[in-house]
Amino acid sequence: MIKKLSEDISSYLKDASNLIGFADIVYIPESKEEAQELIRSLYVDGTPITVSGSGTGLTGSRVPNGGVVISTERLTAMSFDETTNLLTVEPGVVFRDVNTFLEQYSRFLPPNPTEWLCSIGGAVSTNASGSRTFKYGAMREWVHSLEVILSNGETVTISSETINNSTYSVVSQNGEEFSFKLFSVPIPTTKHAAGYFVSPSMRTTDLFVGSEGTLGFIQSITLKTLPKEEVLLGGIVFFDNYKRLLQFVDEVRTISKTKSDGSIEARLIEFFDENSLNLLRKFYHEIPKSAKGAIWFEQESIEESMDIDIDNWWKIIAEYSSLADETWFAQNDIEHRKLAEFRHKLPSEVYEVIGKGSSAKIGTDMAVPTEFFDDYFWEYLRLLNQANVQYVLFGHIGNCHLHANMFPKNDEETTRSRYVYDTMISKALEVKGTISAEHGVGKLKKQYFHKMYSKEVLDYFVSIKSLFDPKNQFGKGNLF
Ligand SMILES: Cc1cc2nc3c(=O)[nH]c(=O)nc-3n(C[C@H](O)[C@H](O)[C@H](O)COP(=O)(O)OP(=O)(O)OC[C@H]3O[C@@H](n4cnc5c(N)ncnc54)[C@H](O)[C@@H]3O)c2cc1C
Repeated sequence: MIKKLSEDISSYLKDASNLIGFADIVYIPESKEEAQELIRSLYVDGTPITVSGSGTGLTGSRVPNGGVVISTERLTAMSFDETTNLLTVEPGVVFRDVNTFLEQYSRFLPPNPTEWLCSIGGAVSTNASGSRTFKYGAMREWVHSLEVILSNGETVTISSETINNSTYSVVSQNGEEFSFKLFSVPIPTTKHAAGYFVSPSMRTTDLFVGSEGTLGFIQSITLKTLPKEEVLLGGIVFFDNYKRLLQFVDEVRTISKTKSDGSIEARLIEFFDENSLNLLRKFYHEIPKSAKGAIWFEQESIEESMDIDIDNWWKIIAEYSSLADETWFAQNDIEHRKLAEFRHKLPSEVYEVIGKGSSAKIGTDMAVPTEFFDDYFWEYLRLLNQANVQYVLFGHIGNCHLHANMFPKNDEETTRSRYVYDTMISKALEVKGTISAEHGVGKLKKQYFHKMYSKEVLDYFVSIKSLFDPKNQFGKGNLF
C-alpha cells in the first residue's frame, strides 16, 4: 500500500546541495500502479510533484518547491534477460546494487558515479556519469528504453531508436500522441548534463535522460550491459609537477582514444591536485612526500596480455613521471578496491571539511573541449590560488572535466570563490564547453543555464516541457 507522510519529512526536503525546500506530503508508492493512480489524481488540481531518488544530487533538483514529493525508494525490482543481456530496473534501485546483482551474470553497467548510493532513476534523470565515462560515455548511452508516467497519469514507453525525420513523437498507452519538430540546439560536444538533449538525429530516450524530473515520473528503466572484463589493470601515478602530469594525460588520452599505437587503452583517467593529496595524506601515509598531483587510471585486459599491458603503462609512466617508482599498481580485486576507495574518499572527506569550519562548499562542474583544456587548467589554478580560499581540484581529467571545490569561511571568501566560479563558467562558455558536465542544473545553476542558451532555445525547451507537462507540475523550479 502507498505510504503517506505529512510529518517527519525533513529528510525529503533537501539533497546533498544543502538547499532546503518545502512540501505538504511525501508519498512512497510500492508499485507502479500506485504511482500512476496517484499522479492521475494529482493532475486534477495541478499539484506540483517532485520525484525523489536517493537525494544525493548536488543542485537541489529533488528539493521540493511546494506540492508533494513522490519517493521511489520502495520501487526496487530488478530483472536480467540473459538472451538480450538487458537489465530492467525500477527507479529506486540503488546504483551500487546493480553491479552486485550483475556479477552473477558476469556483466556490468559501465557508468559509475562516485556516489554509489544514488538511485538509477536519479542517475538517468541527471544523465549521471563518473570516471568510466572516458571510455563508455554517460548514462544516456546505456539506456535501452524507458517507461514514463506523464502528468495526466498516462504511460509512455520510449525506445532508444534513432529519429530520422526530425520529428519527435511518442504515443501513450491510450493512443495520445506527443510530437514536436526537432531543431538543432547548440549542444556542447563535451560531456554535458545541462538541459534537454535535442537534435534532429537524436534517440527518443535522449529527451528524458537528463531531464531532471521535469517531464514525468520514470517508472521503469531498461539498460544495456557489458561483459565484465577478464582482468583489470589499474594504477595511481604520482607527479612532482603539473606540467609533466598534463603531458602524460594528453598522451594517454590521445593513444586511448585514437588507439594510435595500440599499446594502452585507459577506461578512466582521474586527477588529484596537491591539496587533494594533502587531504588524503592522513589516511594514506604512503603518498610520496614530493607528490604535487596524481592520476588514477584503469585498463581492461585479458590474462595473456596483462604483462605486456603493464609493460606499456610502465614505459609511458617512466617517461613522464620522476616518481614512477612510487606508482601504486592494482591487478586484483583487493588492490582495485583500494584505489577506488582512495578516489571515493576525496568527496567524502570534502564533506567533512565543510562540516568543520566552512560555511558552504562551492563546487564547479564545467567541461571544455580537449584543445582548450590545458589553458583552462592553468587558469583554474591561477584564479584559485589568487582567491586565497581553501580548495581542492580533482576529477575526470580524461573528459576535460574537473571539480574545483572551494570552502569559503566568511563572506569575503565566498565573494572571492564566486568570482572564480563565475569567471571559469564564462571561460568554459567562450570555448563552447558546458556549465555542467554531470551534476545537472537543478535549482542552483539556473542563472548559468540561462547564460549558456539563447532565449530562443530556452523558449523551445519550455514548449517541450509544456507539451508533456501542461500544468507545470513536475520538478517545479528546476531548469526554468
Ligand atoms: C559525494 C558525491 C559524489 C558524486 N559523484 C557524482 C559523479 O561521479 N557523477 C555524477 O554524475 N554525479 C555525482 N554526484 C551527484 C549525484 O550523485 C547524481 O546526480 C545522482 O545521479 C543523483 O541520484 P539520486 O538518486 O540521488 O537523485 P536525487 O538527488 O534524488 O534526484 C535527482 C533528480 O532526479 C530526479 N528523479 C529521480 N528519480 C526520478 C524518477 N524516477 N523519475 C523522474 N525523475 C527522477 C529528481 O526529481 C531530481 O530532479 C555525486 C554526489 C555526491 C554527494
